[in-house]
Amino acid sequence: MAFDRDIDESRQPIPLVIVEGFLGFAGAGLWGNFEEHINLPNSSSSKNRKTIFASVGPVSSLHDRACELFYALLGGTVDYGEEHAMIHGHSRYGRTHNHGLYPQWSIENPLHFLGHSLGGPTITKLQWLMKLGFFGSQYNPDMIRSISTISAPFRGTQLVYLLGERVDSAPSVRPFSIGSILAKSVHILSYFSPFLPSILDMHSDSRSLSMRHSSFMSFVKHLWHSEWAEGRDATPFDVTFGAADEREEMMEGLLNPATFYRSYAASITKPHASTASSSNSIYAVPLYLASLAMNSFDFSSLYPTPSFLSENQTTNKHPQNSHSTHDSWYANDGVVPVFSQWHPFSCRDTKCRHHTFDYTNHKALNMDKPEPGIWDVYTLDDTHHVSIAPLWFNTPRQQAFWQDFGRWLRDVDDC
Ligand SMILES: [Zn+2]
Ligand SMILES: [Zn+2]
Repeated sequence: MAFDRDIDESRQPIPLVIVEGFLGFAGAGLWGNFEEHINLPNSSSSKNRKTIFASVGPVSSLHDRACELFYALLGGTVDYGEEHAMIHGHSRYGRTHNHGLYPQWSIENPLHFLGHSLGGPTITKLQWLMKLGFFGSQYNPDMIRSISTISAPFRGTQLVYLLGERVDSAPSVRPFSIGSILAKSVHILSYFSPFLPSILDMHSDSRSLSMRHSSFMSFVKHLWHSEWAEGRDATPFDVTFGAADEREEMMEGLLNPATFYRSYAASITKPHASTASSSNSIYAVPLYLASLAMNSFDFSSLYPTPSFLSENQTTNKHPQNSHSTHDSWYANDGVVPVFSQWHPFSCRDTKCRHHTFDYTNHKALNMDKPEPGIWDVYTLDDTHHVSIAPLWFNTPRQQAFWQDFGRWLRDVDDC
């Protein structure tokens, strides 16, 4: 009997960890019924794939989020690292997870990861830290079987400057900007956190911002000037083009030979044009307005000059791309420009294959057998930042996406 059980265990599909983006703390409730489609088509003898939602700081830096993700999965007290804590002026340790979400995580028991928006670079940061041995030499990047991302800002986004980040002196934020108001809101939520529901958890434990650990005067001081939001250890700075360049200079985001990579680049702008394509829903109006503002962003105003501006604009490694390199700076999904959603580094400096996704036939095209150590990039035209996730609309597009993604995960499981 014990032998039979062992066989059954070995047939369990590799679980999928979902990492949400900036201000993402909704979890499975909002993501909805995607699991049914991820397991389709499935025979009655096949087991459904387990999905795990890992809660990380909704406004925290990639480093802090990656550390929180690691300990949420394995259990234990979040350790941000002595040097990191000293540089950025917060406690080395965060909250303690008495029970990990997947304590058996190892090379023998790897995990698939899917990140929406900032969840994408959170996962690549986690893998990079594992490669560096940040958590200990026993934690190998091969423990990450696959990384898939939707609308991930790997190389930054101009939206952060439109919201308030200074173009010439990030991480400073313009007063009275949307970014400044957001920062104040985060401090208010953190200060009153003992009385607020867990869905508004800002994961600010290491910063002692709650009323249990902070004086009222200190709270007012943070409202006037947020050292967190206007520092280098927070989401806004991490999605600047300058921060992305710094990561690439450190070679952060290099491919791991044993991991499978897939990214989905959404766009609501017509290829080779600077106008947003037709809107398909009223709730998306803010995204379309943001998209138009991003279309007319003046990249030459940025200091330091982002590296992508000097990348070759005339040659394109991927003729099947619906967006040329230059267009892809402006084409966007309402939050992230297309080129930033592809992968870390330019196409010339990483390994990648760009494909199209055919909604009519409900499948990704031009796809051979899954291959590790290379980014398979899929462009999702006429798709905005939340068309696929984290909200569930039960559209044919969402169903097709999740069914195809489920097929791909099964193929990777079998590799
Ligand atoms: Zn930190
Ligand atoms: Zn590429």
